[in-house]
Amino acid sequence: MIHASLTELRAALDTQRISSVELATLFLDRIERHDPALNAFITVDRERALAEAANADARIATGESGPLTGIPLAHKDVFCTEGVLTTCGSKMLSNFVSPYDAHVVSRLKAAGAVTLGKTNMDEFAMGSSNENSHYGPVRNPWDPARVPGGSSGGSAAAVAARLVPMATGTDTGGSVRQPAALCGVTGIKPTYGVVSRYGMIAYASSLDQGGAFGATAADCGMLLNAMSGFDPRDSTSLDRPAEDVLREARREAGTTGPLAGLRIGLPREFFAEGMADDVRAATEAALTHYRSLGAQTVEVTLPNARLAIPAYYVIAMAEASSNLSRFDGVRYGHRAEHYADLDDLYRKSRAEGFGAEVKRRILVGTYVLSHGYYDAYYLQAQKLRRLIAEDFRSAFDQCDVIAGPTSPTTAWAIGAKTDDPVQMYLSDIYTIAVNLAGLPALSHPCGFGADGLPVGLQLIGNYFSEARLLNVAHRYQQSTDWHLQRPALAGEESGSAR
Ligand code: GLN
Repeated sequence: MIHASLTELRAALDTQRISSVELATLFLDRIERHDPALNAFITVDRERALAEAANADARIATGESGPLTGIPLAHKDVFCTEGVLTTCGSKMLSNFVSPYDAHVVSRLKAAGAVTLGKTNMDEFAMGSSNENSHYGPVRNPWDPARVPGGSSGGSAAAVAARLVPMATGTDTGGSVRQPAALCGVTGIKPTYGVVSRYGMIAYASSLDQGGAFGATAADCGMLLNAMSGFDPRDSTSLDRPAEDVLREARREAGTTGPLAGLRIGLPREFFAEGMADDVRAATEAALTHYRSLGAQTVEVTLPNARLAIPAYYVIAMAEASSNLSRFDGVRYGHRAEHYADLDDLYRKSRAEGFGAEVKRRILVGTYVLSHGYYDAYYLQAQKLRRLIAEDFRSAFDQCDVIAGPTSPTTAWAIGAKTDDPVQMYLSDIYTIAVNLAGLPALSHPCGFGADGLPVGLQLIGNYFSEARLLNVAHRYQQSTDWHLQRPALAGEESGSAR
């Protein structure tokens, strides 16, 4: 059951081979046993989970189960959960019990999914390694001396270690795709506006988007189907007819190959220097496999992609400095114990509540928005953002999806980049342009690097092409077994889930 797909879990629950309470217990016991070594969870609420599972069992017994009813889940701790601690990885919110549910959380509750807990993350989703959490670093299940990626590292590590079969995340500049790649799981970030940001603690609002982690593209699609949908409480939520993102994956393959006629664009700039040799080898092998499935590859160009990192770090920090001004020590969250007056209360609460990386970003963001610098930095960055989106638009005239590496390297050692923020920011080189353009993208496992660490392949699609992206990855996973490889946890064997 630990390694079962969501479809297999659905069948097991509906035929009463296992109850939701038994399934939740199985995974809760695994969390208890393995999480002390991984630190993937900030909160685990056994009692609440078992009560939710009992409700799911009652619903299944009446024959009214939906695709996710009774299946265990974890939420990144960026999502507000009513009555449950919601920290966003920060000391600032270390005492914050949310009075309401995020839209994503309420949708998954309505679907009958069972929340086991809240996963560890970089503070306010700022980071690429999960070392910025107030709750300590998350460890990569493939090698506990390495980072799991970030900022949704807890969710990625939890799914990789099978502490939970599926988990939510958020992706502002790569935080679903990059940890999925570094932990050897599948992760999708949909088109901006597909998943409501209501109750998702804001980092950079014009880039933030909820996403899904699972072992496979099919599992991610099941979770995404339940998470997405219009929500009038988010002004950027898109009012579109509901769609089944797995519809293409469910279709029979034609006789000429499952991906016959698919044009995969390879951006020249992604395959230039910067990619580690082992990542390059695994990426090339994946592309060869895609060709064997009937796809053809064409070279495309994203001439402004190299400007994505500077543009992103101006825009994201500007928005963060504004979003984080709400944490003032007055309304909720951390409040300094001793202060002289109101001004002192603000200063001390923020000085004590925020970590170093968050402070760095608030400072830079405030600077680029200030009088005299706004035109020089913020406005320029917004212009670059438009150019980057136009690059993708022209590339999609020549191809159906774009492929490349998700991360330039496999997981690095904990501590290796903590003293060099610019080095850390560069690890997002392949993921960030996608957020600036608002496009959907996923990462799926495609092999292992030099140290036996997972490598992820990124697939980027045009707006609203989630069904196509998941179908492409699904066809790949039907004919390969990288996604079935599992790390060896203490006292367990590594190897294949099949
Ligand atoms: N690593 C990027 C950052 O630090 C992206 C993080 C994210 O997607 N939340 O901003």
